[in-house]
Amino acid sequence: MPITGADVLRIEREEGRAFDEFACRWADPEGRVARRMAPHFFFDDEPHTPFVICLRHDASETHPGTTKCGFLVEREVTQEQPLGTARCGIHANRPLACRSFPMKFNTTGELTVLYDVPQRGRKDEHPAYTLCPRPWRADEVDPLQAPQDLAVAKFEMEFFRSVALAWNRTPRAFGEFLEFLRLIYLNRVLASENRSTAAVSRVGISRAA
Ligand code: SF4
Repeated sequence: MPITGADVLRIEREEGRAFDEFACRWADPEGRVARRMAPHFFFDDEPHTPFVICLRHDASETHPGTTKCGFLVEREVTQEQPLGTARCGIHANRPLACRSFPMKFNTTGELTVLYDVPQRGRKDEHPAYTLCPRPWRADEVDPLQAPQDLAVAKFEMEFFRSVALAWNRTPRAFGEFLEFLRLIYLNRVLASENRSTAAVSRVGISRAA
């Protein structure tokens, strides 16, 4: 699951979790993780490999041999639920991509449309991968909240693309990435608009970059 800098800092602050405990860089040479939405970042140890900033995966306890989002809390398998059930362990602070899944705007940007979600999450045949993602029905989605979540997710991903442009000018070690994010995101609120130029140049973000 690709995440933005805003997701990283919110999870750190609200959930008290350390960056390297829940986030990772995921090599994405073919663009399958970014899917033309998430930005690619480059790092000095592998300067030609594009990476996406993602949630970490953990081994599943319910389904040995498979992996799941590190925040997914699994419940025991029962006779009624042979594949088990699970819940998001950070539901209130889950990343924007999770909040807006599985939606996109229609071509005019006015209405929210459900993605055509595949029947299984991965090519792997294990039945656990039929649990998530799964196809949704329109009546399962809050028609007031969903467009707002989607708008914020789009806005933040767009900003994160600017962050990637700034970082990729001089790629550094992944160990320096969190401090870079903090510098940028903690400078997003300005006392007045005429200070924006100084703030933008201080953090190195510029749409013209
Ligand atoms: S909704 Fe929660 S459990 Fe699911 S991918 Fe997002 S953070 Fe992980």
